[in-house]
Amino acid sequence: MKTHLDWSAYDTYGMGDAYAGIPATGGNYAKAVAVCMNNHQCQRDGKGVMCPSFRITHDAAHSTGARVKALKAALNGELGAQPFSHPDLAAAMDLCVSCKGCKKECPSAVDMTLIKTEYLAQRNELLGVPRRARLFGGLPDWLHRHRRPLAWLVGWRNASPLLARLAERWLGISAARPIPAPARRPFVAESPDSCGQRGKVVLFVDTFTHYYTPEVAAAAHAVLTAGGYAVEVLRPAVNDGEPGRPLCCGRTYLSQGMVDKAKAEGRRVMAALA
Ligand code: SF4
Ligand code: SF4
Repeated sequence: MKTHLDWSAYDTYGMGDAYAGIPATGGNYAKAVAVCMNNHQCQRDGKGVMCPSFRITHDAAHSTGARVKALKAALNGELGAQPFSHPDLAAAMDLCVSCKGCKKECPSAVDMTLIKTEYLAQRNELLGVPRRARLFGGLPDWLHRHRRPLAWLVGWRNASPLLARLAERWLGISAARPIPAPARRPFVAESPDSCGQRGKVVLFVDTFTHYYTPEVAAAAHAVLTAGGYAVEVLRPAVNDGEPGRPLCCGRTYLSQGMVDKAKAEGRRVMAALA
């Protein structure tokens, strides 16, 4: 199986361990799935985060461990020749909110966020990127190119119960909640106005801060400046293909399995830092 993410960190997992239960296909990806030891800690309430989808539904099918089971079945050939397009797997993965709670709190550190990204990338390859995923994943691009029309659309939708119901039907956006609207003006970077007696700080303003809460970036800038730092806002590198588009961490793309786009955003940030 050709994977979209690098799973080499799991290369040595299960060596000489007859009980590891590593699925028959999937290579190192299968090993990442198989780290679960099935002790059901992800099906508990109480202190911690893991696993929010179980905590809300109290349905074991929406826990980290149940996702592991579904993925193991898929990689063991129990869901047919195209397991990544199987509805049972989609149902198991759907409510995972990629919070990384399991990576931190599961005793085996199952990284379902990363595992889900690979699953979505495999599914996108088979079925194409769904309309909803294109909308949410591509938000950095939408906001750069069509911020004003997008803000009007969000305003109309929030004011109209009919549009809210249509958006729920077509895009799966709950009609019961308002959609956050972009700020009137995105963040405007200021040039460093002090020499920074305590040194220089590079501030990375991500897509959501840039377009939705620019006041947070402005406050960070002010606090750091008051603290004696020269603040330089990270900008695209001089040879960036889209120098006018703000830098982006790639999170929206990753969460929709659009790995190539996320990698491209990561490269832009690395080039800017370099
Ligand atoms: S995912 Fe983690 S917490 Fe849940 S059953 Fe597996 S090992 Fe236990
Ligand atoms: S990443 Fe997914 S599986 Fe893990 S705790 Fe969060 S919602 Fe649960």
